[in-house]
Amino acid sequence: MAIDFTLPPHVTDVRDRVRDFMEHEVGPTEDRLRRAGDLRAWRPALRELRQKAKAMGLWAPHMPRRYGGMELGPLAMAFVSAECGRTTYGAYVLNCHAPDEGNMHTLLHWGTEEQKERYLRPLVDGECRSCFAMTEPDVAGSDPTGLQTTAVLRDDEWVLNGRKWFTSGARGARFAIVIARTDPDADPPQARNSAFIVECDTTGFEIVRDIETMAGRGNHCEVQLTEVRVPERALFGGRGNGHRLGQARLGPARLAHCMRWIGNAERALEMMVARAGERRLHGGVLADKQGIQWMMSECALELYQAKLMVIHSAYLIENGKEFRQEVAMCKHHVANTLWRVTDRALQVHGALGYSTDVELGDMLRHARSARLVDGADEVHLTRIAETLIEVFRTTGSTRGATGANLL
Ligand SMILES: Cc1cc2nc3c(=O)[nH]c(=O)nc-3n(C[C@H](O)[C@H](O)[C@H](O)COP(=O)(O)OP(=O)(O)OC[C@H]3O[C@@H](n4cnc5c(N)ncnc54)[C@H](O)[C@@H]3O)c2cc1C
Repeated sequence: MAIDFTLPPHVTDVRDRVRDFMEHEVGPTEDRLRRAGDLRAWRPALRELRQKAKAMGLWAPHMPRRYGGMELGPLAMAFVSAECGRTTYGAYVLNCHAPDEGNMHTLLHWGTEEQKERYLRPLVDGECRSCFAMTEPDVAGSDPTGLQTTAVLRDDEWVLNGRKWFTSGARGARFAIVIARTDPDADPPQARNSAFIVECDTTGFEIVRDIETMAGRGNHCEVQLTEVRVPERALFGGRGNGHRLGQARLGPARLAHCMRWIGNAERALEMMVARAGERRLHGGVLADKQGIQWMMSECALELYQAKLMVIHSAYLIENGKEFRQEVAMCKHHVANTLWRVTDRALQVHGALGYSTDVELGDMLRHARSARLVDGADEVHLTRIAETLIEVFRTTGSTRGATGANLL
C-alpha cells in the first residue's frame, strides 16, 4: 500500500517553521496593530515582516528555486497555507497570497521567457503586485463566454475596451492579467476570449472605484479600459486561450484558497472551544451543554473532511492526475465549512460575537465571499453533477466522480 499519511521531514520542517513564524511574529504584530488602530502603521510593519520572512528562507514557497522560491509542491503548500490562514496577512507576508499566487503559477506555465523575466521575476521578488481582471459588472461572471470587454488587433497593437469589476488588488498593482474577447464568432464559445498582460499605468487603464463590500474596502476595484493599447507581445497564453488559461489558473488557485480557509476555520473553532470552556451559565460552562458539544462536533467533522479533501486534491495536482472534480467538490465543501464554523463560533460567543470586540464578525463577513469567489457554489454543484452523470453514463458507476480511485 502506498497510502501513507506520515509527512516527509521536509514538510514537517517547513510547516513548523511557518507555524512558529505565524505564532510568534505575524499574529502578535497583527494583534498589536489592531489594538493600536492606526491604519498607517500596517504597511511598514508588513514590509518588515516580509523582509524577515525572506531572510528566514520562508519566501514564495510555491515558486521554483530559480525564481527565488522554495519550490514546494501543492501537498507541502497545503500545510504552509493552512498555517498562513491562521492570520490575516500571513500569506501576503510569505508572498503566496491571492491573486499574486495564482498569477505567478499562470505566468510560470503560460508565459513566454520574456513575460517571465518582465513580470514573474519581480512578482516573486516581491517588488510588485498584480491583479486578475475577468469579471464584469454587466454580464454574469459565472459564464465567461459572455464577457464584453474586447481586444482588437490594430496596427500591431491590441486595443482593449470594456469594464471590469472586483479586480482584487488592482490599486497598487503593476500589471493586470485581463481576459477579453478577441474572436466573437469562435466555436466553441470558450475560444472567444484571450488573456493579456496589461501594465496598470497604460493610458486608458483607469481605476474607477474601490468597491465598498460588506467586509469594507478590500481593494476589489472597478476598472474602466478605454482604448488601452498594448503591444502584440502582451497576448498571454495564445489567442483564443483565455478560457483555458483562466481554468488552468483557477484550479490550483481555488485549492490554495481552500488551504488558507482551513486555517481561518480552525482559528474560529479554537475561539469557539475556548469561549465555551470559560462561559459559565445554568450551573456549568457552555462546553458542558450537549447542544454546544454537537455544534463543536459538527465543526470538527466538517473540518476533518475539509482537510482530507484538500490533501487528496493537492495529491492529484502534484501527481499530474485529473483533478477538476475533486477540486470543485473541495472548493464547495471548504467554503461552506468556513462559513458554518465561523457562524457557529459567533453564535457561541453570544452578543460578544456580534460585537467588534472580537474578530468573529469580521471573519464571518470575509468568509461569506468564499462561496462566491473562484466560482459560486451553484456553479461547482452544476459541474460536479455533470461529471457525475457523465462518469455514470460511461462506466456504469459513480465511483470515478466521488473521489477518484479512493474506494
Ligand atoms: C471578494 C471578491 C473578490 C473577487 N475577486 C475577483 C478577481 O480578482 N478577479 C475577477 O475577475 N473576479 C473576482 N471576483 C468575482 C467573482 O469571480 C464572481 O463574483 C463570480 O465568478 C460570480 O460571478 P457574478 O458575481 O457575476 O455572479 P453571477 O454570474 O451573476 O451569478 C449570480 C449567482 O447566480 C447563481 N448561479 C450562477 N450560475 C448558476 C447556475 N449554473 N445554476 C444555478 N445558479 C447559478 C450563483 O448563486 C451566483 O452567485 C471576486 C468576487 C468577490 C466577491
